[in-house]
Amino acid sequence: MQIPANRLDLAFCMHQQEYEQKALEVLRSGFYVMGRELAAFESEFAAFTGGQYCVGLASGLDALWIAFRLLGIGVGDEVIVQGNTYIASVMGITINGATPVFAEPNERFGIDADRIEALITPRTKAILVTHLYGMMTPMNKITQICRTHGLKLVEDCAQAHGASYAGRMAGTFGDVGCFSFYPTKNLGCFGDGGAVIVKDAALAEAFRVFRNYGSEKKYCNSVVGANSRLDELQAGLLRVRLRYMEELTAEKSRLARRYAQGIRNAQIRLPEPAADTVNVWHQYVIRCERRQALIDNLRAKGIGTQIHYPIPPHLSQAYRYLGLRRGSLPVTEHLADTVLSLPIYFGMTQKEQDYVIRALNAFE
Ligand SMILES: *Cc1c(COP(=O)(O)O)cnc(C)c1O
Repeated sequence: MQIPANRLDLAFCMHQQEYEQKALEVLRSGFYVMGRELAAFESEFAAFTGGQYCVGLASGLDALWIAFRLLGIGVGDEVIVQGNTYIASVMGITINGATPVFAEPNERFGIDADRIEALITPRTKAILVTHLYGMMTPMNKITQICRTHGLKLVEDCAQAHGASYAGRMAGTFGDVGCFSFYPTKNLGCFGDGGAVIVKDAALAEAFRVFRNYGSEKKYCNSVVGANSRLDELQAGLLRVRLRYMEELTAEKSRLARRYAQGIRNAQIRLPEPAADTVNVWHQYVIRCERRQALIDNLRAKGIGTQIHYPIPPHLSQAYRYLGLRRGSLPVTEHLADTVLSLPIYFGMTQKEQDYVIRALNAFE
């Protein structure tokens, strides 16, 4: 049996007619940027998260860097971020000239709240929390720290559409919740897309102005902005997908539960969600000290896997200028050396999953 690490076509096929109908509707409408579909998606996605305002943007990275820009964070400022995040989180900080200060993650892949306060300096301006792999980070202690120290809080929810802690959804805890709709994400579009969720009306308006060349009114530009708009085609297709999010998330939970119940191998450590969280299983990430042997073993059986992520941001060439060496973040580095993402895609069959489970259990 051949099982790819991921596939995206099946989620499209599940609601093919509706996607095709929406695409035709937009193509025939004559409006392609900043129209009805965007406005409708923004209010529907805000309602989905329980957040106040949604502003559609061109990507998740744009959501991040524009968030820090509009929060006034730049040169000379520090932002605390977990070492094991996707590199785009860090770029959102450094594009503005601010400095990332890396915190070690805990056993659940999230930022270790107990290690944050030791990293706070007079230059610290914000904390960026990534709900990595769809594993929701418990936010109580972190919001407390932000209040005590007067720090901004930004959430990277690119992998966590619909995840929640204590009944509240990812993206609604901080000043800005940043989302990506890149095709591999649980709420994925058919190209690039992103959005922010914000509480503050003035900040929401600042995003709306910034994404459109800093113009409040046509040809009246109040600030130097960007071109970062979620186009009508993507917004329309996202509206279709959003209608099925509950169903899609339930499917991922079912797949995750089957892995948790079926995998029995002392060499494999399963992901453990924190108490009072709902995880959305963007990825199903196991840990194995003999990872390369496991990858080879699975590949020989036709099973694809991925590593999210093999090189942590602080060790990537892009961030060599920070001067952090191997050994500076041992927990992060050990995760990078041992994590492995199993196939967990929409439309994965029970037979396929049983095959993966049998292969994992046979690994010695
Ligand atoms: C995908 C992703 C991003 C970037 O989103 P894009 O839409 O690809 O720019 C940022 N952070 C995390 C954690 C992601 O998974």
